[in-house]
Amino acid sequence: MNTAFILEAAEAINQAILNSETEIESLDREIGDGDHFINMKRGCATIVAMHDELATLSPDVALNKIGMKLLSTIGGASGPLFASFFMAMAKTLKEQNDGSTVSIANAFDAGVQSIGSRGKAGLGEKTMLDVLIPVAKQFKALAEHQDSKTIAQQLPQVALEGVLATKDMIATKGRAAGLGERAIGHIDPGAKSCQVMICTVCDLVAKQ
Ligand code: ADP
Ligand code: MG
Repeated sequence: MNTAFILEAAEAINQAILNSETEIESLDREIGDGDHFINMKRGCATIVAMHDELATLSPDVALNKIGMKLLSTIGGASGPLFASFFMAMAKTLKEQNDGSTVSIANAFDAGVQSIGSRGKAGLGEKTMLDVLIPVAKQFKALAEHQDSKTIAQQLPQVALEGVLATKDMIATKGRAAGLGERAIGHIDPGAKSCQVMICTVCDLVAKQ
């Protein structure tokens, strides 16, 4: 993992989130309060605008800076959750960044676990974690003996299955938790954003 890749990924994610406006916006209007796209857009724009100050930093310091900045710029439940993802990822990378796919998978997994502990949520609660947990698990398993391109070809399918699975769930965390059975039939907006971001990064890696 190097900082140039983080910056390239930030640009690509920004574009992909903007391209998904209609879908993300309508999902949070159906089972949330309609601000998830705005939160994601603000977060992405913030990171892209940090380009020059991040470019000279090591990847762990850059990721930590991103996390701290997101804490103060994205509102809603998702802001502190994404902030904790980046800060935990930074901490793990600082301990081990040997450039291996295993070290990236471990850092990603630490980030996802941090979202789980910050949000007190796990699998099956109709949140972003229904995409992130299966992807992190599969990433770690594949990283043991697959190269990054092969992994990047496989993870989008895991993310897609995760996002689709949220459709039939009752939410037990976040705003949708108040809807009970009325949330059934709707995909979770945070899960959708995470799927979009994961697929974007996988596309970049596959094209490298
Ligand atoms: P808010 O819910 O405050 O309006 P957003 O709309 O930006 O914030 O984010 C909503 C998304 O955050 C949900 O779709 C869900 O994926 C995620 N989310 C909410 N609460 C939690 C939680 N406790 N743990 C993990 N993810 C959560
Ligand atoms: Mg919302």
